[in-house]
Amino acid sequence: MKYKEIYLWGRSELEQAGIGEFDLDARLLLEFICNTNRNTLLVYGDREVTSEEEKGYREAIALRGSRIPLQHITGVQEFMGLEFKVNKHVLCPRQDTECLVEEVMRYLHDGNRILDMCTGSGCILLSLLHYSNHCSGIGADISKEALTVAAENTEKIAAMKRPNPWDEKTVELIHSDLFSNVPEEKFDIIVSNPPYIASAVIPTLMEEVRVHEPMSALDGMEDGLFFYRKIVAESRNYLVKEGMLFFEIGHDQGQAVSDMMAEAGFMEITVVKDFAGLDRVVYGSYR
Ligand code: GLN
Repeated sequence: MKYKEIYLWGRSELEQAGIGEFDLDARLLLEFICNTNRNTLLVYGDREVTSEEEKGYREAIALRGSRIPLQHITGVQEFMGLEFKVNKHVLCPRQDTECLVEEVMRYLHDGNRILDMCTGSGCILLSLLHYSNHCSGIGADISKEALTVAAENTEKIAAMKRPNPWDEKTVELIHSDLFSNVPEEKFDIIVSNPPYIASAVIPTLMEEVRVHEPMSALDGMEDGLFFYRKIVAESRNYLVKEGMLFFEIGHDQGQAVSDMMAEAGFMEITVVKDFAGLDRVVYGSYR
């Protein structure tokens, strides 16, 4: 079969299965299986695929058609220009979360200590460390399975070439229910993308997210604000003077989280919108 032919087959299978971005997903899966890129379809559509490639692609399309997220099939997701390993135990890094990392970057100084609460795949902490110098940090998560993924990502990103190589103290991953096992120290920056979907909204999420992503990374309890309350209250004990707390939030949580931070004594509280024009990040500094 020709490359283009099998792509058109995959595309139509995914369209029939009701996958939103069927053409993109069909192409990305074919590129994953054949180790090709975007150009291949444009320029080399006539090339033959091997029978193994065809078999692999048919399997991948069947999985995607059954609503398995694309990233669980390829095992990776790009985030902040870096490639992160993902599986069903971590939330796939979202483009929205790049907005959070970019805000933190604006305030991050060389040598800062960072705490990433609910680190999941580690994508926030690791990209902050990758794009800064001499910083170090702790990634905390309640899920041991997530920490295994974060450890693999740490190893992968630590191995990248950089002017100031990381050492064993650059990243520490801690199994912790929020702050319970976080060592008593003061951080310059605390950042968190906690679970923030209100429980009542969970049934409305796409099947890919609702069934295949970890519920413990999504469910923010009754009003979705459970983890913000806890993290705001506790982070005060873990921040240096004028240390900063950064959150990713849901589009309708800007006011509530800002109020919570103001009440807890945070200053200069700012809500930042994402590229879709929706409130996405709240941060403030602690006096
Ligand atoms: N933004 C994610 C979603 O919409 C939720 C992330 C979270 O709860 N931290 O699926």
